Amino acid sequence: MKEMPYAMTIGGKRVFTDASDAAINPATEKPICNFPLATRAHLDEAVEAARVAFPQWRDRPLAERQALVTRLGDLVEENKEAFIRLLITEQGKGRAGAEWEIGGSIYWLREVAKQSLPAEVVVDKGDEQIVTRHTPIGVVAGITPWNFPLLLAVWKIAPALVAGNTMVLKPSPFTPLCTLWFGELAQSVLPPGVLNILSGGNELGQWMTEHPHIGKVAFTGSTATGRKVMASAAANLKRLTLELGGNDPAIVLPDVDPKKIAKDLFWASFSNSAQFCVACKRLYIHEDIYDAVAKELVEYAKTVKVGNGLTEGVELGPIQNRMQFEKVSNLLKDCKDRGQRFLLGGDIADAPGYFIPVSLVDNPPEDSRVVVEEAFGPVLPLLKFKDIDDVVKRANNTPYGLAASVWSKDVQKAEAIASRLETGTVWINQVHVFSPDIAFGGHKQSGVGIENSLHGLAEYCNTQTLMRKPLAA
Ligand code: NAD
Repeated sequence: MKEMPYAMTIGGKRVFTDASDAAINPATEKPICNFPLATRAHLDEAVEAARVAFPQWRDRPLAERQALVTRLGDLVEENKEAFIRLLITEQGKGRAGAEWEIGGSIYWLREVAKQSLPAEVVVDKGDEQIVTRHTPIGVVAGITPWNFPLLLAVWKIAPALVAGNTMVLKPSPFTPLCTLWFGELAQSVLPPGVLNILSGGNELGQWMTEHPHIGKVAFTGSTATGRKVMASAAANLKRLTLELGGNDPAIVLPDVDPKKIAKDLFWASFSNSAQFCVACKRLYIHEDIYDAVAKELVEYAKTVKVGNGLTEGVELGPIQNRMQFEKVSNLLKDCKDRGQRFLLGGDIADAPGYFIPVSLVDNPPEDSRVVVEEAFGPVLPLLKFKDIDDVVKRANNTPYGLAASVWSKDVQKAEAIASRLETGTVWINQVHVFSPDIAFGGHKQSGVGIENSLHGLAEYCNTQTLMRKPLAA
């Protein structure tokens, strides 16, 4: 058996498999180590372990569940540096990005652990009472992508466990290591079976969505896969939270200072090498300042260091995996084939690692692939606009509806535009503000349901109405 330092966790036990696959470092294309590939039998075992653990976990006082979830945050903090390095190695991101993700995972575990959903007393006439309360669903499945592997797992694990559910979670086969390790560490805190982590290919995700004893699926990934999840969850009417893709517009009004805003617009678009569901993916700039903003963006982009995230000073890493690298390369080729002009980038160097340079495309047609598709890589179309009604229409002209941003000195004007955008989040003069207390979710085909906040916590619960009155004398 190849070296497999990280095990799956089933019923509190470390589990290895005969079959395994290699996790690849995207900055070098070299294998890091192998990880287990779960079979259907492993999934059945994990779901059974979660089912057995459920009644006791549900019946534990909320304060005890909250304390244990807080402890999970402590465990990540005690191993913070090792998590940061492992995340950089398996995901490819730069050090600052990895610190943000691991720091965020700690923070989310601790903050979500403070949340609870109060019962709503609808009628209170002494002995006669009607109360609507929140009860856990049972066994919840979590399925996560490769761009923020640990943070997006924590966004599911923390509320699921606080609400009283038990869980089976599967990381992306491209980034399984941090999540597997977190699962192993968690066993020193949680009762066996409360949190089970399985690694495997896409088929494991599908088996989870079909499993008759899983009551809910919390999924983050592409819209295409989200549709499949929804279809197969229909078999036993699973509850669903789907956080899916986006094609987020940013609208830049003519009153901004191009030099001052370039840095913010750059990071709005290229954080995590643009492998960010809420990255700005269409940058609409008013024609009066288009050239000036474009010039400042190019200047700023040239100062950003791209490379292996473990190298000091590197801010942007490679694309996370070969499949995505090929997709983004193909998009660049499409731009070239159509004769679109690059203000920066466009050419991929023949060197190890899945590196794609920051590429800015100069005002391509609105119906071109680079505008219509979610690139999920560092290729950004800069688009000119003149008229507000026109830009709002173009911004909304997409099946996606995840997030958007508007940039202006005139906050009221920006807000009037923001209110016309069909997205789950709209930022004004900022982006990527998230919190355990802020609801996050997509409109249209960017998702179903909410993560974070009490709205997110409620998605891990059934609603139960309890009506009581004394027996008639
Ligand atoms: P993906 O859909 O390919 O995979 C996501 C997860 O689903 C992986 O764990 C994968 O193994 C699993 N999976 C694959 N096929 C499945 C199936 N048939 N049934 C069940 N599970 C299956 O997505 P990805 O490429 O890992 O991630 C990139 C996508 O995720 C982008 O579209 C991005 O916008 C989106 N994303 C959305 C958010 C958000 O919060 N809205 C956050 C991050 C990423």
